[in-house]
Amino acid sequence: TLPKPRQPELKTSLPGPKTAAIMARDAQHLSTSYMRPYPFVPDHGEGVWLTDVDGNTMLDFFAGIAVSTTGHAHPHVVKSVQEQMTRFAHVCLTDYPQEITTSLAERLVKHIEKPGEKWRVFFGNSGAEAVEAAVKLARNHTGRTHIISTLGSFHGRTYGAITLTGSKTKYKRGFGPLLPGVSHVPYPNPFRPPLGSTPEFCGDAVLAHVKNLFQTVLPPDEVAAFIIEPMQGEGGYIVPPMGFLKKLRGLCDQHGILLIFDEVQSGMGRTGKMFSFQQFEEYGGVQPDIVTVAKGIASGLPISAMLAKESVMTWPVGSHGSTFGGNPVAAAAAHATLDLLEGVVKHPGCGDSLMENATSVGDYILSELRAMQTEFPFLGDVRGQGLFIGLEFVKPDGSPDGKLRDAASMAMFEKGLLNLDCGEAVIRISPPLILTREDAETGLEIMRGALRSLSTQR
Ligand code: PMP
Repeated sequence: TLPKPRQPELKTSLPGPKTAAIMARDAQHLSTSYMRPYPFVPDHGEGVWLTDVDGNTMLDFFAGIAVSTTGHAHPHVVKSVQEQMTRFAHVCLTDYPQEITTSLAERLVKHIEKPGEKWRVFFGNSGAEAVEAAVKLARNHTGRTHIISTLGSFHGRTYGAITLTGSKTKYKRGFGPLLPGVSHVPYPNPFRPPLGSTPEFCGDAVLAHVKNLFQTVLPPDEVAAFIIEPMQGEGGYIVPPMGFLKKLRGLCDQHGILLIFDEVQSGMGRTGKMFSFQQFEEYGGVQPDIVTVAKGIASGLPISAMLAKESVMTWPVGSHGSTFGGNPVAAAAAHATLDLLEGVVKHPGCGDSLMENATSVGDYILSELRAMQTEFPFLGDVRGQGLFIGLEFVKPDGSPDGKLRDAASMAMFEKGLLNLDCGEAVIRISPPLILTREDAETGLEIMRGALRSLSTQR
């Protein structure tokens, strides 16, 4: 039997009294760096629904930043984690092999290896750690130091990762000096084409810019790696032009530069394929040298992976490791998540696999949102792939409208839809991949209502 479609249930005005009390204590004792976009304090979750401490049940359209792949408290994930917990919670993967991580690595590389190619896996705890590992490996393997990253990118908050991150200055101000040897080049955003280019040719413009750097200020034989999100996440859920990544691969090959795809936000089935770069396969395909994944890999338990071609993963024994990295309980959650992503275990109402569901429900949401653009001219762009969707708010002159986006985000929350911003004026739609078409309709109806209330206010 299919789970019944539900509606949000708001039992108190927001924030409810318990939420307000915890938020006040949170403001007293936790780091001043935490953001609180709206008042929500979770108590428990089930599937795509989260209930706050006051009993208000909301539809989750952001999945803890694209993390809760299988929704909240998925019985298959819970069982897998419980079983591993009763055996052992930790031994230390840096020192001792463990079957659960060995088999997880075997499963992950199957999704990336091409005939005649072998890949290996390094496990960490977070996206930033996977990125740090990728950069360390790239430098160690090539004997070169320089790394090229993109503007608008987000790669994490540790020193190497914030240096690579190319978005908000607040991530860097007052924290320097950062890692030496990092350059940023524009990201090919078809909605806001950089370097005076056009949507169609913005990829070529970026590549021409890189070639110019190689001839003027940056000797390419000093560049270890080019790191890029195949679909940019925090920067605004941006899909580059088809064919761009393949041309970038060509340029990297020409100069012996490693190509790192940061799939921390876009990977693990979110776009409908295991890795978002695989969406470009029918356009000739592109194979990176290193891939980073985290977030959605284990439905909320902390584990990340840095995958690299065997020919690249040549760093010496003992040169890199981590106490908790590849934790077996998190690995158990990753196995269960993969079961559902691959369709080894089926989720009711979600077709053959969660990846297939992401494609079909994502296509549906994209087409509904595009239809909404006629009613709401301030929805300047609707883009994405699978359940990786960005909705960009614009002013009448086409410039980003961050204020309107913030108002929309709050209006949606007040009607029971948990959502999260990104970029300058974008709301990301990154729900659990178990979202059914009925759940999607519920969410879209809330969005419509919220956007209508904004239109009448304006
Ligand atoms: N890379 C990308 C593409 C990300 O989106 C993020 C997190 N938003 C990170 C790296 C960092 O991940 P974490 O917060 O787990 O360190």
